[in-house]
Amino acid sequence: MVDSFVYSQPVKIYFGAESFKNLGVILEEQGLQRAVLVCGRHFGPEAEAMKDSDPRFVGVFSGVEQNPRLSGVETVTALARETGADCIVGIGGGSSLDTAKFAAAVAPNEGKAIDYYRGDRAFNAHSRLAVIAVPTTAGTGSEVTQVSVVSHETEKKTINNPAFMPRAAIVDPVLSSTVPPRTTMNTGLDAMAHALEGYWSINHQPITDIIAKAAVKLVLENLEKAYKDGSDMEARSAMAYAALLGGMSFALPKTAACHACSYPLSEVYHLPHGEACAFTLDSFVKINADDRLEELAHAVGLRDTEELAAKIRELKALAGLRSRISDLGENVDTGLLAEACSVHPLMNNNPVKLSVAELKEMFDALR
Ligand code: NAD
Repeated sequence: MVDSFVYSQPVKIYFGAESFKNLGVILEEQGLQRAVLVCGRHFGPEAEAMKDSDPRFVGVFSGVEQNPRLSGVETVTALARETGADCIVGIGGGSSLDTAKFAAAVAPNEGKAIDYYRGDRAFNAHSRLAVIAVPTTAGTGSEVTQVSVVSHETEKKTINNPAFMPRAAIVDPVLSSTVPPRTTMNTGLDAMAHALEGYWSINHQPITDIIAKAAVKLVLENLEKAYKDGSDMEARSAMAYAALLGGMSFALPKTAACHACSYPLSEVYHLPHGEACAFTLDSFVKINADDRLEELAHAVGLRDTEELAAKIRELKALAGLRSRISDLGENVDTGLLAEACSVHPLMNNNPVKLSVAELKEMFDALR
């Protein structure tokens, strides 16, 4: 019997090579007239040129950093208010998309972003600017989630709120052709982590299971190609699709132990998000191996979950990603690391419950 479930995917998705060229038409279709563009440095000059050539683009913020800061959200919020924007277009990796989503949820309301970050004010999904999300990395799937991850002082916080759901996503693989090889690998493994964690999350459901299997297969078949040749548009296109499906795999079930562990690995050891998730991904494939995961391994063309874990290790090694405790620095205290991972709420979504001692054992096996 099929389990009961509630499924929803409210983002209108425009997928395809050169689809970003239709941004103007899509704004019109969505009834949007005044857009602020939000991006990182790599897209800054193009965003400025767009603003100079089309009066509908009323402002540009091109200062989004990796692991985006709340200060960037405050700046975009102020810009959207000053310009009377009805829309924020986030163009970039997850950092730009999450900045756009957070600012859009604050701009038409009272108060500053910090009030919402601290929980002193509540987001209101019925009062927000529209967001058009345009991913330029193939990883986070932020274009189809109601998640925004933003850092303030020493805290990196994930907020999951319906107010963050984009109105539309434009997924144009051509935009990812300039992503450097290592970032291609980091972000591609993030997509793999989303699919696997959505699949084994205790909240998984039939539709997201199917999507997850498709995403894992695409990553296994295309990530190495995209890493080795960034101009391989077939591989880039497959990875953009995989990242989108990865986002849809975890949007409802949420991620689990690998993402829980990624927080201290990013905050304390400064690993980029994808590399931090990949650090424990093969370990958790082994820990979470059960009949369902074996079924996924077969569905994606592998012998078993052992081979899935080995494939993940091979991909990490190919790009020289950090994967041993010694890669994090000298005298890493795996006990402290295990404690920090164990208290993260996403740990509760893992199908296998691990004590701090068992998590420490997992990290010690990576020495
Ligand atoms: P990113 O957005 O930080 O970008 C990584 C680097 O790649 C940056 O320097 C960026 O300028 C550069 N870059 C982006 N696109 C490029 C391109 N086309 N060409 C050249 N350079 C390019 O990295 P990311 O992995 O996409 O996003 C990570 C962030 O997303 C983290 O903060 C993570 O926590 C968050 N995240 C959010 C969700 C969500 O659902 N909201 C899901 C997963 C991760």
